[in-house]
Amino acid sequence: MLSAEIIAIGSELLTPTKTDTNSLWLTEKLNDIGIEVMLKTIVGDDGSRLEETVRDALKRSDVVITTGGLGPTADDITREYTAAAAGRALVYHDEIEQHLRERFRSWGREMPEINKRQAFVIDGAEILPNPNGSAVGMLAEIDGTLLIVLPGPPRENQPMFIDHVLERLRADAGTVYVKRRILRVSGLGESAVDEIAAPIYTGYPSVQTSILFNKSEVEIHIAARSDNELEAIATCDRLADELTKAIGKPVFATNGETMEQIVGEHLKRRGETVSVAESCTGGLIARRLTEVPGSSDYFVEGAVTYSNEAKIRTLSVPLSVIEANGAVSAECAEAMAKGMREYAGTDHAIAVTGIAGPGGGTDEKPVGTVFIGYSGAKGTKSVGLKLPGDRYLIRWRTSQAALDYLRRQVM
Ligand code: AMP
Ligand code: MG
Repeated sequence: MLSAEIIAIGSELLTPTKTDTNSLWLTEKLNDIGIEVMLKTIVGDDGSRLEETVRDALKRSDVVITTGGLGPTADDITREYTAAAAGRALVYHDEIEQHLRERFRSWGREMPEINKRQAFVIDGAEILPNPNGSAVGMLAEIDGTLLIVLPGPPRENQPMFIDHVLERLRADAGTVYVKRRILRVSGLGESAVDEIAAPIYTGYPSVQTSILFNKSEVEIHIAARSDNELEAIATCDRLADELTKAIGKPVFATNGETMEQIVGEHLKRRGETVSVAESCTGGLIARRLTEVPGSSDYFVEGAVTYSNEAKIRTLSVPLSVIEANGAVSAECAEAMAKGMREYAGTDHAIAVTGIAGPGGGTDEKPVGTVFIGYSGAKGTKSVGLKLPGDRYLIRWRTSQAALDYLRRQVM
């Protein structure tokens, strides 16, 4: 499999206000044709660092793509320093200059002399035309490595890549099919997941498997490559199935779905409805459930009952329950779920109450103490959690845990 690296050039990309999006777009295109991006670098408009970066890249990668720094001004230094890194001279192309002059004339202007710089091309490189801007791109083979030099603006480099680079790379890469799947796991940590998963996926050395933690869940990314499409699909599916079976219930999605999509699918399949009563999440669970198109089939209503009075008035939580146990308690969560279910007349109801912080924690109930209540045809129950994180994360993780608790009742 061919390896690629991308070098994004421009000092503005090293500031907090400008993001390198070119490499994201290029990575997707390269992955689609089975070329793996192994390294991305951002270099400011600094000649020696740029030259060194390109020189190193040419040594280690099959394909090196740079973007940016091809403008006409003095800070655009990509031409000079990629040529130096490649050990090639820059050659002046009169036809490029004439073409630029005509472009400017067609706008009723004379070409500024500094634009002449854009007529220099790495010796022996193929010129990639740019109908959307003044900088041409370049493609050159340097000691077996393909060096591709593209302009910075996405509206210029994307058509250039599609029209003049993609098919060439596809041919070099050979026929490679890539089948990807994302498994998502809730209720287990990254290391716990890896303990179960590693002995399985290490048995598939040709498949790229990565495990990452994402806010409230662990994701397992699987990418199987083969010159045979059916084999890529079969290998990917076999590994996904083995992992799903070994990890068990905590796997909530096997094709990258969100928790709220999965919960919705289960409810829809069963033809059942749900309502939610929320305290510390302030409506987040209802929002997530209703973000799924078609959720009106199963989502009936939600109540944000933040104060004790609201819990008593709207959900009929007995005052005695709150007085005896506090609003953040298993008893209150259960009373909220039971009250919500009776009020809304749904098959299922979930409720959450907790301390999102930063204030409000006690020794007995520190910040992150959360209770999730569930009420259904088989009765009412609850679970207590201690969630780490700041206010934002605690609220998000509470919503995830509540949806997962519901999922386990309906799966
Ligand atoms: P340049 O070719 O360096 O003159 O870049 C021209 C413009 O392209 C910049 O001002 C940015 O708006 C855009 N640009 C350059 N590099 C990137 C990048 N890596 N990602 C997104 N936009 C970029
Ligand atoms: Mg620049």
